[in-house]
Amino acid sequence: MRWSKSFLPTLRDDPSDAEAVSHKLLLRAGFMRQLMAGVYTLLPMGYRVAQKITEIVRHEMNELGGQEFKLPTLHPREIWDKSGRWDVMGQEMFRFEDRRGSDVGLGMTAEEIFAHLASELRSYKQMPQIWYQIHTKYRDEARPKSGLLRVREFTMKDSYSLDIEEEGLDYAFDQHFKAYRKIFKRIGFEPVAVEASSGAMGGSQSVEFMLRSDAGEDWIAACEACGYAANVEKATSAIPAVNDAGPDALEKFATPGVRTIADLETFEGGAPGFKQIKTLVYMIDTKPVLLLLRGDDSLSEQKLIDTVEAEEMRPATPEEVKAALGALPGSLGAVGVSEHFIIADESLRGHTKMTTGANEDDFHLRGVSVERDIDVKAWLDLREVKDGEACVQCGKALSVYKTIEVGHIFKLGTKYSEAMGANVLDQNGKARPIIMGSYGIGIERSLAAVVETCNDENGIVWPVNVAPFEVVITVVKPKNVECMEVGERIYDALIGFGIDVLLDDRDERPGVKFKDADLIGFPYRLTVGPKGIADGKVELRTRRDGETDDLDIDRAAETIMETVLAERR
Ligand SMILES: [Zn+2]
Repeated sequence: MRWSKSFLPTLRDDPSDAEAVSHKLLLRAGFMRQLMAGVYTLLPMGYRVAQKITEIVRHEMNELGGQEFKLPTLHPREIWDKSGRWDVMGQEMFRFEDRRGSDVGLGMTAEEIFAHLASELRSYKQMPQIWYQIHTKYRDEARPKSGLLRVREFTMKDSYSLDIEEEGLDYAFDQHFKAYRKIFKRIGFEPVAVEASSGAMGGSQSVEFMLRSDAGEDWIAACEACGYAANVEKATSAIPAVNDAGPDALEKFATPGVRTIADLETFEGGAPGFKQIKTLVYMIDTKPVLLLLRGDDSLSEQKLIDTVEAEEMRPATPEEVKAALGALPGSLGAVGVSEHFIIADESLRGHTKMTTGANEDDFHLRGVSVERDIDVKAWLDLREVKDGEACVQCGKALSVYKTIEVGHIFKLGTKYSEAMGANVLDQNGKARPIIMGSYGIGIERSLAAVVETCNDENGIVWPVNVAPFEVVITVVKPKNVECMEVGERIYDALIGFGIDVLLDDRDERPGVKFKDADLIGFPYRLTVGPKGIADGKVELRTRRDGETDDLDIDRAAETIMETVLAERR
């Protein structure tokens, strides 16, 4: 392709409304344009990258024995009603009425449709199957943001495994896990695999592939030493050894004006955060329940929801707290409380010489021994993991950071096959529901994730595998006949070798051309200029490290071809 004939609108400055690096760079470098909130057009450069990512995903799915479908994006309400998700999806799903008055939804995922199709399968002999599609999905995100990272219309590869035995599902899940690792490596980044709760999908086991990025919204705790990784909603850490000093006898003391953990830390005769007991009151199925944590820990509400079975839970109002304990938040404690259920975080076990509220405004207790003085009914892991705490598996420091979800694999079980009546006969002629797994990768989000990972102060640095063009030939003086002739000759030769090459034949200053090439991020730039030609040379520059190499004009195309092929994966 020739640059002079291309639509490649680069911008001089960062767009003012973009925050995420990928958002800024993809707009500036002419890869995409916003049409409306959360809806983007991929321009030719962007679409080339998306197609390369798609091909990598397709290749790895076919390696698994996957069969590609193309499902409609218009879904009738009836099929979503069968699984109950027409209601569950709420406003996340785009929906409208057609001219006959029938409810129609825009596909956001395809468990229902594939399970419906699977009802045509008859026998265990047809198992296992892997079905997939790479197609447009719609989600009416409440807060679309960060460019391609959180959008309302996007392309997703979603695959579904169909099995009759649990072991078959385990195998398909494992195969997808391995394929995903390969896919992301080939695209150009390596996310962390995190066990996750499966949310609205239903099912038992799920793993999310999370890529570290400041543009992300999901916090994870991960250990670089041993590979432990978990969403902070589930993550835990090793509990430090008990090392208690201070008075041992229970003693009430006046703390006028002290209302918070921080107040008590600075109060004369107070205690550091880790020597305090934080007392929270939650209404769990309308009853007040006391939750105890170390003063320097925070409650993970999700852990409470995951471990305590209840119809309803919420923090108690100040009035409910006062009614339950006789004091207002700021002076609460569990010592001597027997009429309410008390749950303590595991990290408090064995601790003595602690300080806590006395259930009397402006008074605290010191010398508290948790197990001696408090009637703990349940010990649970309730605290939120903090950066630098010790890993439960190996003891090294955990890092807590923001991530983008780039892939997700679920064990669905039989929820959808039962809803759609997708059964097959087993070896004994008995009808059994098909066991399903579901596996997703967002194409545009992966594209943005590469940019989040591969960039520098001059622009994007595409890995060869997904670069819009692998090589740009920058003809410094296109009006110079000899320059243009050499540029064209190498260009034609590279096309002959199957290399993706762009010829920058624009009548622009060399500085502008070099800047654009760096911004867009072609892995290799070949500079063809009159000075070099006089010596029989052209200059190959690697975008990644800025290294340059003078090549003989006659050998240039072959050398570039060898260099590029060595990097394709
Ligand atoms: Zn570890």
